[in-house]
Amino acid sequence: MAERITGHTELIGLMATPIRHSLSPTMHNEAFAKLGLDYAYLAFEVGNDQLEDAIKGIRALGMRGSNVSMPNKQVVLKYLDKLSPAAEMVGAVNTIVNDDGILTGHITDGTGFMLGLKQADVNIIGKKMTLCGAGGAATAVCIQAALDGVKELSIFNRKDDFYKNAQRTVAVINEKTDCKATLYDIEDKVSLRREILESAIFTNATGVGMKPLQDKSLITDSTMLRPDLIVADTVYAPIETVLLKLAREQGCKTVNGLGMMLWQGAAAFKVWTDQEMPVDYIKGLLFK
Ligand code: NAD
Repeated sequence: MAERITGHTELIGLMATPIRHSLSPTMHNEAFAKLGLDYAYLAFEVGNDQLEDAIKGIRALGMRGSNVSMPNKQVVLKYLDKLSPAAEMVGAVNTIVNDDGILTGHITDGTGFMLGLKQADVNIIGKKMTLCGAGGAATAVCIQAALDGVKELSIFNRKDDFYKNAQRTVAVINEKTDCKATLYDIEDKVSLRREILESAIFTNATGVGMKPLQDKSLITDSTMLRPDLIVADTVYAPIETVLLKLAREQGCKTVNGLGMMLWQGAAAFKVWTDQEMPVDYIKGLLFK
């Protein structure tokens, strides 16, 4: 690293808190080194209170850009000059690019999910997806899927604080895309069974399956899962969730959240560098 950094090296940041555990600095710095690109990526412990100054710092220091994560993904919108169509629709940003002082916000989580499916040879364009979730990941995935051409989306969530997010997501998708989106209460098991039966893919985009809910799955009745259904999970730790294990045992093709994680990074990398991240190489380094 010391040999790489010169007076010309451009800085890219990651602004979030807590953030010291993140794999993103390793992911991006290894990719820059592999491709011989003159950038360095550093994580900064930044919360909502420091965010405005930190974003001004991107312009003041001539940084190439930054990732942002929780708790800054929505708050950051008001400090930026422009938004990508997906970021505007999601109402959140995870990637900022600085073009001569103009800061544009992008959201690459949904792109990451769709690219992860593509890499797994799964094509859901023109098809129907049933998805559980209404938080940050679910919103980005639903909106990107609708923008990319998924024909129908059936979204299920419990009636917690996130439910109103899903109401907004459904309204935005129905207003701005050709996708038909419908929201259901996850307690409505009759509709859940019917919608999964009519779908090409079922996706879990909730925290169920991840610590501390790693022993749980929103689907426990294996008769809801037929062998030609694709089952995807946004959770990547554990690599195989209880849902994915159940689906694999039923003969379904399964896609874990690792692809989404890697490809959201690759999509951000592309925004900053206009180059493709060497994803297989990075996957090998991060998940030996
Ligand atoms: P969030 O906190 O914004 O949303 C949480 C969602 O889970 C909500 O829809 C909530 O209703 C639901 N939920 C939580 N506990 C539940 C329960 N007991 N029963 C039913 N529903 C429950 O979280 P998020 O950022 O949207 O993350 C959701 C999942 O996606 C997490 O597991 C996270 O690991 C994963 N994720 C993966 C990636 C990736 O790159 N692969 C990126 C972001 C998030």
